[in-house]
Amino acid sequence: MSRYRLGIDLGGSHFEVGLVDIETGAKISSLKGKVDPQFHWREHLKDIVEAILQLSENTANLFGKVDKVGIALPGNVSPEGDICYKCPNLPKWRDVPVSEFLRDLLKQYFKRDFQVVAINDVNAAAIGEYHFNVKILLNKHSASMLYIAVGTGVGGGIVLNGKLVVGSRGLAGEIGHLPLDNSPDAPICGCGSKGCLETQASAKAITRKASERLGHNYTPRELYNLILKAPNSQEASIAKDIFREAGYFLGLGIIAVSYVVDIDVVVLGGGVMGASEFILPGIYEALDKKFKMYPGDPKGMILLGKLDSPQVLGSALAWNYL
Ligand SMILES: [Zn+2]
Repeated sequence: MSRYRLGIDLGGSHFEVGLVDIETGAKISSLKGKVDPQFHWREHLKDIVEAILQLSENTANLFGKVDKVGIALPGNVSPEGDICYKCPNLPKWRDVPVSEFLRDLLKQYFKRDFQVVAINDVNAAAIGEYHFNVKILLNKHSASMLYIAVGTGVGGGIVLNGKLVVGSRGLAGEIGHLPLDNSPDAPICGCGSKGCLETQASAKAITRKASERLGHNYTPRELYNLILKAPNSQEASIAKDIFREAGYFLGLGIIAVSYVVDIDVVVLGGGVMGASEFILPGIYEALDKKFKMYPGDPKGMILLGKLDSPQVLGSALAWNYL
């Protein structure tokens, strides 16, 4: 079995292809490209294979050893890793036979066979962080981990007994839609429900609250910069509250999952966690107040993601966890 694999991360605006060494977690070489969300999925996959062709020229000897290719997608993927049902930010991605198409395209370009598997991007990130962050740290294969991606939405992935939990509908780990806000004026979620975790802790939620309380649609990054610029201002104190509240709801989500599968480690990733210093106090507050059954200090279970591109590494490792 080759230690060299290809990992692909397809997002709503960019993609990345990387040649990785799954033994060390090193990204030996990678290339990024733009994604036009209105293009057909065939175009997206063709652009990706063109990038792989370029990558293969940069890494001739090592690329020859690659026989497995994983692709992380921003949507629902079948548990077998062959069909992508739907990607909310890529409207042309509907019931796409992604593994088969990519395999055929790769054969056409490189005149040899590759094995291809598709995986949801948050699940891929969960695998990457588990393999190269958590497992090494705990030095045991059975550690259970909840990965949370806090970005535009809130996504999650669970690794249990060394395997990714996917479920037959791809819903396992989708903690963004845990109904945690029961207040009568709870916001409506993109999923159609009310009061989901995502409506309290995502970038969208943070921007909505900034607009309500500060009169401006600040992104989480802008809000973070506002605190750094004038830490003692009233605006900064409101901004800190917004991050702390997001953290509090993430903490409630962590507790809910922990009481179901007894999580050893929680890894927090995604762009919004750039403001982790203001989000963590909210998470700790929830754990202190509501996680009374936990023996010891539950703060110890929280880690921050440390990989550069966990989706690229994780998709390359998908075989080991599916
Ligand atoms: Zn929802």
